Amino acid sequence: MLTLTYEYKANPTAEQIKLIEHTLNVCRQVWNFALRERKDWLNSRKSPINACSITSEYIIPADALYPNYNTQAKSLTIAKKQYPELKTVNAQVLQQVLRKLETAFIDMKRKGMGFPRFKNRYRMRSYVYPQLGEGQILRGNQIKLPQIGWMEYVKSREIPDGFAMKQVRVVRKASGYFLMFILECNVNVPSPVASGYPRGIDLGLDKFAATSDGELIERPRFLQLLHRKLKLLQRRLKKKQKGSSNRHKLNRKIARLHQRIADTRKDWHFKLAHKLCDDAGMIFVEDIDFRVWAKGMFCKHTLDAGFGQFVSILQWVCWKRGMYFAKVDKDYTSQVCPQCNTHTGKKELKNRIHSCPECGYTTHRDVAAAQVIRNRGLALSAAEGVNALGRSVDQNACGDGLTGTGNSLVKSQKSRNKGREARIHPAS
Ligand SMILES: [Zn+2]
Repeated sequence: MLTLTYEYKANPTAEQIKLIEHTLNVCRQVWNFALRERKDWLNSRKSPINACSITSEYIIPADALYPNYNTQAKSLTIAKKQYPELKTVNAQVLQQVLRKLETAFIDMKRKGMGFPRFKNRYRMRSYVYPQLGEGQILRGNQIKLPQIGWMEYVKSREIPDGFAMKQVRVVRKASGYFLMFILECNVNVPSPVASGYPRGIDLGLDKFAATSDGELIERPRFLQLLHRKLKLLQRRLKKKQKGSSNRHKLNRKIARLHQRIADTRKDWHFKLAHKLCDDAGMIFVEDIDFRVWAKGMFCKHTLDAGFGQFVSILQWVCWKRGMYFAKVDKDYTSQVCPQCNTHTGKKELKNRIHSCPECGYTTHRDVAAAQVIRNRGLALSAAEGVNALGRSVDQNACGDGLTGTGNSLVKSQKSRNKGREARIHPAS
């Protein structure tokens, strides 16, 4: 099964905007109520049953079960009798809100994400129609949505052949309303075979990226300019009185600028990804959790650059162009010589040159790291090829002597499979 997400700008009428905002508002109320219910239950279980604590009390009966998706969906149906406002919104849309909450709690446990938050009216920005009505849904540049009816959108591109509309998400951004079409096609695409010219890519803070071919890519200047503008506006915000209409106006302006920065960055990421894929058959990057980076000392710069987004865009572009993509072990990429594989020791951040004491190989340090990544990627794909013939990785000489090859092999396979099954990413 192949899933694509295409994004279009919507042109709703004033009436339709009212309906969308109303739906978002009801969704928000359902979210907050359901979250409160779960939070109360969890809090009530914090105090021992035979004791009193200062902060939490055992108020909810001991035999009351934890409110999971099923019970909350049931109580939603009952609540509709009491609160007619709930009936004004498509029932499936509201169920999706509860489902999203369930996922948020599961992600918190499994992926270590944060505790789900209550949403104010700025934070509830989208909702999804999990099913569209029967019959004709699309006509010209219009789409038929439940309750909203025919809505115009900017048809910036055609829906590809063989794909069927599965769901539609309505999103409010600072720059207007958008529609995300989730498209599905019932085919199996074979994974690209590891072949062709290999290219390793090292992402860094000094230069945005370096390739194993010796190319250095600078951080884009226009983003810096936009960031400076943003800072200026944010400083001005402090002087405005809370609740005043001037403050509201300025806030809107800031939100639009944030949107513009995000859009510009994404566009640049796509262009760079395509450029890096040119004349290559295989792309390798380091397997880094950029969320950890963002928390550490590189905080601001990492968020600016959006490395995590870039890597997923790169993976998507590779997949679309039928190229092989893999993540390799990240350890010591900047401390190993790409020519002779000796450890050269830790480099200071200000030391920009890699110079090997063993073989005398000298190059830019980021390029050296990219070459190490390429070498590891090649060993990895070679090991994978042997694997396919039924031999184990241990028997393969190429895999020997490289740190963590076995480990990263499993990781890269997993991450590629994941990417294949559920790919929710706007196409380039
Ligand atoms: Zn060397």
